[in-house]
Amino acid sequence: MESNVRVRFAPSPTGPLHIGGVRTALYNYLFAKKHNGTFILRIEDTDQTRYVANAEQYIIDALKWCNIPFDEGPNTNEKFGPYKQSERKEIYKKYAAILVEKGAAYYAFDTPEELTAQRDFNASKGKIFTYNWQNREEGKLINSLVLSEEEVQQKINAGDKYVIRFKNPQGEILYMQDEIRGRITIKTNTLDDKVLFKSDGMPTYHLANIVDDHLMEITHVIRGEEWLPSMPLHVLLYQAFDWEVPKFAHLPLILKPVGKGKLSKRDGDKLGFPVFPLEYTNEETGDISRGYKEDGYFADAFINMLAFLGWNPGTEQEIFSIEELTQKFNFERVNKAGAKFNLDKTKWFQQQYMQTKDDAELAELFKPILEKKEFKKQIKKFKK
Ligand code: GLU
Repeated sequence: MESNVRVRFAPSPTGPLHIGGVRTALYNYLFAKKHNGTFILRIEDTDQTRYVANAEQYIIDALKWCNIPFDEGPNTNEKFGPYKQSERKEIYKKYAAILVEKGAAYYAFDTPEELTAQRDFNASKGKIFTYNWQNREEGKLINSLVLSEEEVQQKINAGDKYVIRFKNPQGEILYMQDEIRGRITIKTNTLDDKVLFKSDGMPTYHLANIVDDHLMEITHVIRGEEWLPSMPLHVLLYQAFDWEVPKFAHLPLILKPVGKGKLSKRDGDKLGFPVFPLEYTNEETGDISRGYKEDGYFADAFINMLAFLGWNPGTEQEIFSIEELTQKFNFERVNKAGAKFNLDKTKWFQQQYMQTKDDAELAELFKPILEKKEFKKQIKKFKK
């Protein structure tokens, strides 16, 4: 049993929560509860260009319907709050400055046009432009590694736009450990100097994410495989700050039923099944996407099905209550390979749960449907 486990689900409110996101939340929840730990919801809304107004409430409603409540989050036990990144801007600014002071990050004044010109120039020679150790101190790029302190200050005072980039260590080999994938090794020379702080005064995902994970005392970062490429930078950032590195677990992708390709938000209704827990109305287009709840699925059947998309208990047993899942869940039985979504299996879970529900419960669930269809008077008889 691990002690003081603190994990977080950190969605960006760019739209409804896809079932892959729900599964990430679920595995975080199961892991936390197994170890008597804390499950946290943090809203990562630093990218204002992709912000969708009704998405945050959707995420909260979806977790509620799924019965995976968070212990800390927006407006809930804000021990290390706020739990919304857009309300933490000043914190990131401070930590970006600390990195610059430590020599682990630098100001870069290159304009988007200048960077495009560099990219085009390299492309004309068949090369890819990467902002890193190869060119950052050559003189063509304008940053605080080549400018004097006075020149940097002058530029900042004059209101020149700048970003803060991470100075990737040169010529090192980074050894990392993933709870699901095992040991991962990478040469730091293959990395680029990612932007940590943008010219609009907002942090990028990378900086905000690790600063918050540190300040919120996160012990295990459990997230989708699509974030695996960010892991080296994140580990290097922890090291640069002299912070303890949390444990990482990157979960397998959920694949389309045919097996090839990630199940995307757009696949949903097209493939004949919902990809969202709850129905979602796109406020801009008015388009409605189906949800498991509105399609009549039971939350416990849906959760049982999701738990098996990427994990198995190692026995024949398939029906698990959330309490049983909490006891059984571990990273050793999470697959590395992607998990194919299977509609027949999803229906099978629903059927299994249907058989265990008693009449009163089913009648109650049918009530709103009957009411809508103006069968009001028959509700009493309906149970029978
Ligand atoms: N905001 C990121 C996302 O959407 C979080 C990734 C992470 O958990 O580090 O999915």
